Amino acid sequence: MSAIDLIKNSIPIMDALDRYTAANFSNVRTSRTRFNIRCPFHNDRSPSFTIYTDTNTFHCWSGCNDGRPGDVIDIVKLSRNVGTKEAIKVLIADYGLEKPDSEQAKEWQKKRAYRERSASLKKAINKKNFEAMDTLKEVERSARAILATIRTVEDLDRIGDLYHVVIQIDYWFECLADNQDMESQIRAIQEVSHFLQNMKEGGGA
Ligand SMILES: [Zn+2]
Repeated sequence: MSAIDLIKNSIPIMDALDRYTAANFSNVRTSRTRFNIRCPFHNDRSPSFTIYTDTNTFHCWSGCNDGRPGDVIDIVKLSRNVGTKEAIKVLIADYGLEKPDSEQAKEWQKKRAYRERSASLKKAINKKNFEAMDTLKEVERSARAILATIRTVEDLDRIGDLYHVVIQIDYWFECLADNQDMESQIRAIQEVSHFLQNMKEGGGA
């Protein structure tokens, strides 16, 4: 990995913003992969500065950084009003990256690997999510169709339990759709696959 790649990828964007700017992260959910804050590089009345933690970049929608997306090097350039070379020097010194195999450099690389792993985990979860939602939609449709046939108290006794299934499915939908809560997404995916498994083994609900 070249020194510049090491810098761009290994120094977390949040860390650089914290170190070189007066960026304020209160009132934002920094666990998200993208979120907005007030731009630390211009007098920003509304949060128009998007941070992308998955790509380690930012974008000021009001035109800072010449309107282009930026990285940690741009953060130093903008905050210190220096050129690229000088900014790289500053980062190398501040983050102890003079030697790419120093303990600190290794530490940053570890952090980067972790970020990449969680990004690909998120992708996999999203895929599972869509699959679960598709199947649930079908199950819900069938359940509602059966419920619509209820005419008598006997019918109700026989198939009234499906109401609970429909309510449960609605709840799972809510969990699966909440992209900010990965834990409840994973839990819902597990519960749904368990539910579908039971349905298969029971020969249908
Ligand atoms: Zn700005």
